[in-house]
Amino acid sequence: MKKKRVLSGVQPTGNLHLGNYLGAIRNWVEIQHQYDNFFCVVDLHAITVPHDPQKLAQDTYTIAALYLACGIDLAASTIFVQSHVSAHSELTWLLNCITPLNWLERMIQFKEKAVKQGENVSVGLLDYPVLMAADILLYDADKVPVGEDQKQHLELTRDIAARVNDKFGKANHPILKIPEPLIRTEGARVMSLTDGTKKMSKSDPSEMSRISLLDSPDLIEKKIKKCKTDPIKGLVFDDLERPECNNLLTLYQLLSGKTKSEVAAECQEMGWGQFKPLLTDTTIEALKPIQDTYQEIMNNQDYLNQVLREGAAKAKEVANQTLSRVKDALGYLPSL
Ligand code: ATP
Ligand code: MG
Repeated sequence: MKKKRVLSGVQPTGNLHLGNYLGAIRNWVEIQHQYDNFFCVVDLHAITVPHDPQKLAQDTYTIAALYLACGIDLAASTIFVQSHVSAHSELTWLLNCITPLNWLERMIQFKEKAVKQGENVSVGLLDYPVLMAADILLYDADKVPVGEDQKQHLELTRDIAARVNDKFGKANHPILKIPEPLIRTEGARVMSLTDGTKKMSKSDPSEMSRISLLDSPDLIEKKIKKCKTDPIKGLVFDDLERPECNNLLTLYQLLSGKTKSEVAAECQEMGWGQFKPLLTDTTIEALKPIQDTYQEIMNNQDYLNQVLREGAAKAKEVANQTLSRVKDALGYLPSL
């Protein structure tokens, strides 16, 4: 039987952090052999907020190399750069004309990111979820493994696909496949180190709010030493009054590979002075193999270019077919 299709991506808006890893990429790695996977570096999304042209290409390489370093296996998965496949932009335009404006105005990420930009909010930021819908729908994805923050965008993707099918499809012949989100319970929302009520983000201006996968051991130690905690002794999960405590215990659980009940028992009597060095050592140890492999890949630019070239060719084959299907259904004159 043909394997089901998975698609997901990360924006090259900075280095990957523990939220991206535990909420998304680690799950991609775990499930990849059950599926036919497309993982893209979504560089068109990266310019929906102000960006530095000097860094975009380098950050794109970094994210692609980190996919490989985290364990994405090219025997099961295709890695490519979104802007190398022009069908993403083209389908976005077609979907734009089918998506009601008020669906986009409701998006939480738009509201949150728009506030930070004052007068300079771009049309692209509002349109981000339509581009994301195009990313997913082009590949007829069955499943989309993402963190909790992307759930609303996934629902929108489903609504857009259903609308295209209703308006332009024939009975029993849908044009677009309706995808399902794949969101893990643990790690789906890793919180900021400086505020346990906010998610960890690449775009948070404070470096101290996140641990990046490429942080040195010294920097990891410094960030954990300074991270926000509370004055209460004894560490517990799931106390709504102690969001930082829950977050740090969850990080320890996921990075150590222990179960939640093992961690609960181990830490119930601990104070922060004892816990923080434990979390520091565990984090450094968990990230070391990723950092070592990352360095090897980055030292071999030819290899990385080849991966991305071959990935784009495979992605184009699938994406262009879907694009043609949509254009046919919308009544476009085929290329002559
Ligand atoms: P930005 O701040 O630029 O939006 P980001 O940190 O939100 O960056 P994205 O590239 O937008 O990262 O998201 C990549 C993937 O990582 C998505 O699947 C997203 O759901 C997931 N993700 C992002 N932040 C977290 C987090 N704090 N916890 C769990 N998953 C996360
Ligand atoms: Mg994001």
